[in-house]
Amino acid sequence: MPSVILKPVKERRLKAGHCWVYSGEIAKITGDYADGDEVEIRDTKDRFLGRGLLNTKSQITVRRFTTQKENLDEAFFRRRIEAAILYRDELGVTNAGRRLVFSEGDLLPGLILDQYGDFLVLQALTLGIDKRKSLIVRIARDLLQPRGIIERSDVPSRKLEGLKETKGVLWGDADGKVQLPLTEFSVEVNLLEDQKTGFFLDQRGNYARVASLCAGKRVLDCFSYHGGFALAAAKAGAPSVEVVEISDGAIARGRANAELNGLAGRIEFRCANAFDVLKQYDTDKRQFDVIVLDPPTFTRTKDKVGSALRGYKEINLRALKMLPPGGVLATFTCSHHIGPDLFKTVIVDAAADAKKTVRLMQTLTQSPDHPILPAVPETEYLRGFLLQVV
Ligand code: SAH
Repeated sequence: MPSVILKPVKERRLKAGHCWVYSGEIAKITGDYADGDEVEIRDTKDRFLGRGLLNTKSQITVRRFTTQKENLDEAFFRRRIEAAILYRDELGVTNAGRRLVFSEGDLLPGLILDQYGDFLVLQALTLGIDKRKSLIVRIARDLLQPRGIIERSDVPSRKLEGLKETKGVLWGDADGKVQLPLTEFSVEVNLLEDQKTGFFLDQRGNYARVASLCAGKRVLDCFSYHGGFALAAAKAGAPSVEVVEISDGAIARGRANAELNGLAGRIEFRCANAFDVLKQYDTDKRQFDVIVLDPPTFTRTKDKVGSALRGYKEINLRALKMLPPGGVLATFTCSHHIGPDLFKTVIVDAAADAKKTVRLMQTLTQSPDHPILPAVPETEYLRGFLLQVV
């Protein structure tokens, strides 16, 4: 097996529990190798650090899968995928919509596998996983007996691995359309066309928490996608819910979901830029009791953090101004580069400018079927604060 030998002291990250080896950390690669192959990782004194998959075209040249001397063969992937499914079963997340494999969070770097009832959606983020798609399909079919498996590898980050974006039916019979009886509400999703793998599964754990504060309240759900927070709020007894979302496809889906749940008259859908709407409502001195802000990532790179922070501040400032005492703001960031301290600073700034005192009721994060490894900070990307104006 080829070995990747690290430069002196470059074994530190792996020893601390991370799983990435960057190209600049490699002294040499011995043996015959091809991209996508299994390799051993060794330090400068030839000590074994684990096994992973190689891609010399990627800045992240090796992703470690194991610290043991075990082969990364079909039996290995089967064990890992079984363990990931067992973890979800133990969490009690129903198979109507759940993430079964969350890449590094499940010690399977590069692989996303979501379950939507009878269908599975696979995302291959790395060359190593891309080359093993048929093996993963075999395992998934055997363990889960789906009706169809769809690929949603239409993610720009594949370019960093030298891969093109792709999507389609990998196996079985699927037109992409599914109706999902989630615990919170039912939704219709098109697994071939909608954003991400069809649904924002990472927010599912937060719907009920926010909805528990919405009975009898005026609710505004900004950046709503298919209206997850709005549907949960209306179901929990909010008499008036307003949704703001820029994608007309997402708005159409939100409307259909409202119908499906018998909530059609209670949710007002607005297809617009949330920045403009918040500005207008601020000018109009509108008031809400609960506001949700769940924008897309404002920055994927470190150098854009400054402008991202200005974006977060603007929307949070305007939302806070519209909340009377007792009002609640559920505010999120899914930018990995905006850590909890930085995000808190934005909120403190926005509250000061809005002349509001807020208390932190709870910090929120991604649903537990997106496991976080403390040793791999990149696995934690969704941060939220549930704030009350006092
Ligand atoms: N809260 C949603 C997920 C939101 S994802 C849920 O629980 O499912 C972010 C959403 O913001 C996407 O649907 C995207 O289309 C939308 N969006 C992006 N820019 C926007 C803008 N300027 N104004 C309103 N919506 C926007």
